[in-house]
Amino acid sequence: MSPQEMMQRKANATPRGVGVMCSFFAERAKNAEIWDTEGKRYIDFAGGIGVLNTGHLHDKVQAAVAEQLNKFSHTCYQVVPYELYLDVAEQLNALTPGDFAKKTAFYTTGAEAVENAVKIARAATGRPGIIAFGGAFHGRTLMGMALTGKVAPYKIGFGPFPSDVYHAAFPNELHGVSIDDSIASIEKLFKFDIEASRVAAIIFEPVQGEGGFYAAPAEWVRRLRALCDSHGILLIADEVQAGFGRTGKLFAMEHYDVTPDMTTMAKSLAGGFPLSAVVGKAEIMDAPAPGGLGGTYAGSPLALAAAKAVIETINEEKLLDRANKLGGILKETLNGLKAEIPQIADVRGLGAMVAVEFNKPGSHDADADFTKKVQTKALESGLLLLTCGLYGNVVRFLFPLTIEDAVFEEALQKLVAALKA
Ligand code: PMP
Repeated sequence: MSPQEMMQRKANATPRGVGVMCSFFAERAKNAEIWDTEGKRYIDFAGGIGVLNTGHLHDKVQAAVAEQLNKFSHTCYQVVPYELYLDVAEQLNALTPGDFAKKTAFYTTGAEAVENAVKIARAATGRPGIIAFGGAFHGRTLMGMALTGKVAPYKIGFGPFPSDVYHAAFPNELHGVSIDDSIASIEKLFKFDIEASRVAAIIFEPVQGEGGFYAAPAEWVRRLRALCDSHGILLIADEVQAGFGRTGKLFAMEHYDVTPDMTTMAKSLAGGFPLSAVVGKAEIMDAPAPGGLGGTYAGSPLALAAAKAVIETINEEKLLDRANKLGGILKETLNGLKAEIPQIADVRGLGAMVAVEFNKPGSHDADADFTKKVQTKALESGLLLLTCGLYGNVVRFLFPLTIEDAVFEEALQKLVAALKA
């Protein structure tokens, strides 16, 4: 069946709210390449939105899932537990930042991990309030949306949202929000909206993902931690997009000298299988009563088998070094084009969590049209790129860290051509 016919079936059978970026359909994929049903090949710099740091169907991940599939696919962990859950929990407790006893609970999606981090924070503190940041993305569930600091397209028509959620300004030098401005905006919340003693947690992305790939400044993270400590507020790092090697460290918080009380993770944790986790201080994680946490599919054995293989692969293939290497080459390439392409306003990134931001030449006005054109041109040439940012003027790069050198080089050529076109 032709892609055009399938797009028509999509329109007839599924709601328009589930939008799709591409008008072709996937047939198969391996590492950094996808082939569509017409046999056309694409280089995947989207990674299913940051899920594929170890690539499509990494041999090790595929073998681990196949092996598990021969044993059992589901029991529901809360009914009949399995050792895999403990294996990966112990590994995450050891691998996440923080020199204290930790515990881990598994879920299925990033939004579910965020929801549960909020539940745990409320149970641990006995307080209702949650503070998030403008530009943040925390998921499409009701609490996820409430925490998300971007109205279009995520929140339109879906309110009312859960109460006691507040937004402060995320520090962003490029857009004129200083560290002082951001901290002052939190202090203002304590004056205008909610007393600090009723706030359970502050949740933030160490590197904002959907918001535009802005890394939090180190001094700000330090001040955020101090502010939390002075008011008994928990600090939650949402590493759903930044975690699992993207930034050149296993967790983005390893770039900072403070530790969060809880970390949420998903996406590249299980190399394409649905798995998320909340890892946190043991006493905080133990606040909810037995039966208060879990889910039918939470901690799927297939996904946990994949996660175990992902952790092994990141170590064996030195993917953190590779993130830094490939991110460096990409930044160098983009920086080298600044003189020729005046729309390039900023090139940034920790490790391979790289982005390029476009403004109208000679101005501070976001150039979403140019951004869209680059994405379209790249797609025509067989390179999948994702955009992001509050103003839709950022291209972000989420290629597999396992990408072959030759494929990476080919992708850069396509990228440069799309930028120049
Ligand atoms: N938090 C962050 C930082 C994310 O980037 C995302 C997904 N883009 C989510 C939460 C939600 O994850 P999911 O789509 O798996 O629910």
